[in-house]
Amino acid sequence: MYNLKKRILVSGGAGFIGSHLCERLLKDGHEVICMDNFFTGDKSNIVHLLQNPYFELVRHDVTEPFLAEVDEIYNLACPASPVHYQYNPIKTIKTSVMGAINMLGLAKRVNARILQASTSEVYGDPQVHPQRESYWGNVNPVGIRSCYDEGKRCAETLFMDYHRQHHIAIKIVRIFNTYGPRMHPQDGRVVSNFIMQALQNKDITIYGEGNQTRSFQYVDDLVEGMIRMMATETSFIGPLNIGNPNEFTILQLAEQVILQTGSQSKIKFLPLPQDDPQQRKPDIEFAKKNLGWNPTVQLEEGLSKTIAYFKTCL
Ligand code: NAD
Ligand code: UDP
Repeated sequence: MYNLKKRILVSGGAGFIGSHLCERLLKDGHEVICMDNFFTGDKSNIVHLLQNPYFELVRHDVTEPFLAEVDEIYNLACPASPVHYQYNPIKTIKTSVMGAINMLGLAKRVNARILQASTSEVYGDPQVHPQRESYWGNVNPVGIRSCYDEGKRCAETLFMDYHRQHHIAIKIVRIFNTYGPRMHPQDGRVVSNFIMQALQNKDITIYGEGNQTRSFQYVDDLVEGMIRMMATETSFIGPLNIGNPNEFTILQLAEQVILQTGSQSKIKFLPLPQDDPQQRKPDIEFAKKNLGWNPTVQLEEGLSKTIAYFKTCL
């Protein structure tokens, strides 16, 4: 059944992760509708797919209802970088919450399977390490990251309630820091910032002392995990962590980027933003067991592919 050609909607499909997902779904022989309002996404991310007759691009805002006859929906529409999601926080929370309602309503109407791109941010500044799916998190509901964190938490609640109340076939994945080609060079995230700064021999901006940690996942591993999750049996819904458990301090990341770019950049320490999580690392036992999945691209290899991409953005 799963190998049949499907009609698949990807909201946020012109963004960094969405564009890789659209590409992979087409490669797997499916028909793809990419829906995006181009807030942080860009046509250049999917321009190479436009000649494919099985690819359709729709400019649409997920906060408005959307109708299409589809078999599966991947709901990715939402700005993901702190700089972008804090630019218009009210719009960010509307995108997560109203977007989830609209996409779930569509799934209900056309009886589609739907996967939510949730986030490790639902764990907030975690007091349990590494983070397992059973952990409820430590989230500030009134801080500058809340529009994103609480929006994504509310979206998870909506997914669960549509599942319990209307028996919608849902899947929830919690994505940990993901990087790779087609990240927006100015989106302010740490991997894109450090590589762009290093390539231009500008100061590398570390917020705080650089001892906070993150675990970086290459985008191809994430896409593989999302596709495997969508294909699991209906009763398996998650939430499920998808990330690479190799943990680095931000200072280690800066040093690695300088090494791999051969840059003359110096490190500059700037103030730590409010509510910046001190540590983050996924427990991926649940994904290994249920998806037979494991990340395969480690930081050095992933960074070299990403550096090659950012060289084309200069
Ligand atoms: P991105 O900003 O590149 O992609 C988001 C896409 O959604 C963009 O194309 C943007 O234009 C679109 N979008 C935003 N608001 C919209 C709206 N109202 N209507 C329609 N489209 C809209 O970010 P990304 O890194 O590709 O993230 C994709 C998804 O994965 C997001 O939901 C994000 O929360 C989630 N996620 C990403 C990461 C990561 O590390 N990259 C981690 C956790 C979760
Ligand atoms: N960071 C940094 N310098 C930058 C951008 C980010 O030191 O130029 C830090 C940021 O404070 C955080 C980590 O890198 O501790 C990851 O930030 P990012 O915005 O990529 O994602 P987050 O995981 O915080 O959502």
